[in-house]
Amino acid sequence: MSTRVIVVGSGNAALCAGIAACEAGAEVLILEKGMEELAGGNTKYTAGAMRFAYDGRDDLQPLIKDRCDPRLARTDFGSYSAERFANDLLSFNGGRPLSPEQRRLVDQSLPTLHWLASHGVTFEPIYSRQSFEKDGRHVFWGGLTLAAENEGVGLFEMELAAFKRLGGTIRYGAAVSDLIFEESRIIGVKVGDETIDADGVILGCGGFEASEAMRAELMGGQWARAKVRGTPHNTGDGLAMALALGAKRHGLYSACHATPMDLHMADYGGLSLPPIERKNYRKICYFLGLMLNAKGERFVDEGENFRNYTYAQFGQKVLEQPDNFAWQVFDSKVFDLLYAEYSFHDAHYVEADTIEQLCDQMDGVQGQAALATIAAFNDAVDDTVAFDPTVLDGKSARGLDVPKSNWAQTIDRPPFRAYPVTGGITFTYGGVAVSDRSGVLRDDGTEIPGLFACGEMVGGVFFEGYPGGSGLTSGAVFGRLAGASAAAQGVDSLEEEQSIAS
Ligand SMILES: Cc1cc2nc3c(=O)[nH]c(=O)nc-3n(C[C@H](O)[C@H](O)[C@H](O)COP(=O)(O)OP(=O)(O)OC[C@H]3O[C@@H](n4cnc5c(N)ncnc54)[C@H](O)[C@@H]3O)c2cc1C
Repeated sequence: MSTRVIVVGSGNAALCAGIAACEAGAEVLILEKGMEELAGGNTKYTAGAMRFAYDGRDDLQPLIKDRCDPRLARTDFGSYSAERFANDLLSFNGGRPLSPEQRRLVDQSLPTLHWLASHGVTFEPIYSRQSFEKDGRHVFWGGLTLAAENEGVGLFEMELAAFKRLGGTIRYGAAVSDLIFEESRIIGVKVGDETIDADGVILGCGGFEASEAMRAELMGGQWARAKVRGTPHNTGDGLAMALALGAKRHGLYSACHATPMDLHMADYGGLSLPPIERKNYRKICYFLGLMLNAKGERFVDEGENFRNYTYAQFGQKVLEQPDNFAWQVFDSKVFDLLYAEYSFHDAHYVEADTIEQLCDQMDGVQGQAALATIAAFNDAVDDTVAFDPTVLDGKSARGLDVPKSNWAQTIDRPPFRAYPVTGGITFTYGGVAVSDRSGVLRDDGTEIPGLFACGEMVGGVFFEGYPGGSGLTSGAVFGRLAGASAAAQGVDSLEEEQSIAS
């Protein structure tokens, strides 16, 4: 009899678990909370970019869909060593050493990408965002070079097709509500009143970013009002079920990936919108201007570093302000530098010919205080340094309570614009502790027999930020491991039963 494995969720992590379990000979059922349109969770909202360590072109070639693309002959992919990947993760660890989960992510990243390719998942070089043209060649700067064909939706579709080809079954609209634990092991799950038996259960059902109550309880009250950039279904169900069975909390619960977003966007990411429109609710050009809170005060160094290194943390900073909002203020000197998301048809902003009129229009802001803040900032700008957004230009405004370290230009050329923003949560970092075969661990370090976890459920992978494209790779690495382990689990328990019987 085959081992029966249930996978909870149908995002990238869960599908990788399902594929690996099928591959190992198990009979696999995926239970997905969402109806078919919303299956695939946050995975479908992504650009499909996946970060992995590689030595050079030979490592990438087997992954690329169109190997006849004439650009390939003129492309320098460079290399991205395991050491660089580890250092990139470390740079967001706040002084913590590389965790065992991060070590696994780095070491298994390339083999896992090749494994995905062996199941028909294909990739494309990210020419538009990760390379530049130099002397007629496309030069990647390393790190993030490939994305799944057709982005997150394509990744989901290719993985689901692979899972079905291997005989896996999926049920939509099937929210797992409980785990059944009897005779010291997991023996199945509950979907409402229905009981479904299994030899192993894999939780691949995301973090708790879409639960207002869990965000407030586990991360702090300011998170209650955050916008959710992805699926409404990742409400921490798997985390709650695992914790109820004594699973150990692991990782950083006080931090998450969150970016400044349009205050008036919908509460959740809209899958019905084309991907480009979904992305446009993000507002991350604060480094070209100022951010003011309800008291009319600045609260971050908008020019602390390139936005790649600050945008995933500044969502939290905005949420920490009174009433959880801020306004981003720009003058016309930088209008042509603002990303397309600022001229998007559904971008909300106010415009005025004087700073006084602008401050009057910024809802919820103490206008006089805002005026004084802008005036003090203008006085502090160093006029001796030239503005250059392509480098850390050192053009600063100092002597203020909150300095601006780079790209500080006076706000003085009309017209002026201000955009209202809040914090949008992408995904949570806190999860459960897992063993080196992705089994869910209790506080005492023993596994809960029959229970596995992968994807956003696994704690200890990210701490105070993450290098882009690592979330999907982490889901694939831990999903593959959990699937293989859960399939073997049934074999283990069968062997146990046989030895007891004999
Ligand atoms: C807008 C956005 C852009 C992103 N861009 C990138 C990127 O380019 N690269 C990258 O690496 N990462 C990116 N990320 C992060 C990435 O989405 C996540 O790291 C990854 O998708 C998580 O995969 P997962 O399988 O753990 O969860 P998900 O893909 O979210 O899947 C979880 C699934 O579990 C289901 N579920 C929840 N509860 C239950 C239940 N009780 N029963 C059954 N099913 C349940 C959900 O419906 C969902 O389908 C992005 C995230 C967002 C929101």
